[in-house]
Amino acid sequence: MGETAKIVLGIESSCDETAVALVTADRRVLAERIASQEAEHAPYGGVVPEIAARAHAERLAPMIEAVMEDAGLSLDNVDAIAATAGPGLIGGVMVGLVSGKALAMASGKPLVAVNHLEGHALSPRLADSELGFPYLLLLVSGGHCQILAVEGVGTYRRLATTIDDALGEAFDKTAKILGLGYPGGPAVERLALEGDAKAVSLPRPLKGSKEPHFSFAGLKSAVLRAFESGEHERADIAASFQQAAIDCITDRLEKALREHGPLPALVVAGGVAANQSVRSALESLAASHGMRFVAPPLKLCTDNAAMIAWAGCERLEQEPDFAGDPLDLKARPRWPLDPQAEAVRGAGVKA
Ligand code: AMP
Ligand code: MG
Repeated sequence: MGETAKIVLGIESSCDETAVALVTADRRVLAERIASQEAEHAPYGGVVPEIAARAHAERLAPMIEAVMEDAGLSLDNVDAIAATAGPGLIGGVMVGLVSGKALAMASGKPLVAVNHLEGHALSPRLADSELGFPYLLLLVSGGHCQILAVEGVGTYRRLATTIDDALGEAFDKTAKILGLGYPGGPAVERLALEGDAKAVSLPRPLKGSKEPHFSFAGLKSAVLRAFESGEHERADIAASFQQAAIDCITDRLEKALREHGPLPALVVAGGVAANQSVRSALESLAASHGMRFVAPPLKLCTDNAAMIAWAGCERLEQEPDFAGDPLDLKARPRWPLDPQAEAVRGAGVKA
């Protein structure tokens, strides 16, 4: 009898997505449920931490039950329970982590405390069995904007981060200024299709700068001024904003590649990876450096539990005798992937 692949139950609750998934070490997603809280947060134009934590608490247990049922499995069939332990909105993280601990305790299976960013960083390997280490990762989500050299499971070198806003946040704020509602990224992308990206002159913060980081606060303020001037069409502002953001990303990636040498692949993860213009810009950048370009399917790019379960699979693969993280482990609102990276203003998670 050949050995069957390990199965990990994953739980994600760090922001406004409650998600549960069962994933195997041979890259099969056996079952998956995801509940978005968009409707609850929409009236506030952003994620409200207290509302998020309550919604996770109400939804998580029935979702875990449903996922087990969808897959026709019980906890006996599962090899580990992986839960996001940070970074994120602490109330929500605690709900998911405590649920994971309870399941681990009841079943006697190991708990894997997963760094949410590690989930994003390794998710491309769930979708693509050919993707080996190392690779250059652009992580662009609602709370993060980082360039990482992913050298192996547990070995991440942060090459750049944002000194103020995350890129997804900049899209969301631009959407708010333009009256497009929340979440803003997809709405800005749609409106940008109708606009002229050269119509509004906007800054490219830190472009060409000696430091490696990102900054989007000044771009956001410039969007606000352009809107308030009343001189521009909203679609032109959206298109010009998107182009400015893309120019910043490609400039920072070019710098990272110049300084850290070529890597075999460029990978993008996080919610902003859903943006087609961002994707095509990255694709041409990768091509011009002879790198493979890997963009996981969209549902793996935004927050999800399959990536958390997968990070658990990777950990078990790396440490076959892993006995589990301690059950008194604390949820961490901030948890840098690269402990050596110097602290940068605004570089932590916001939402
Ligand atoms: P995440 O934090 O990974 O769940 O990603 C959510 C963030 O991605 C939000 O800030 C969204 O506005 C952003 N986002 C989602 N879709 C798009 C898109 N098509 N273009 C730009 N940003 C997007
Ligand atoms: Mg995320």
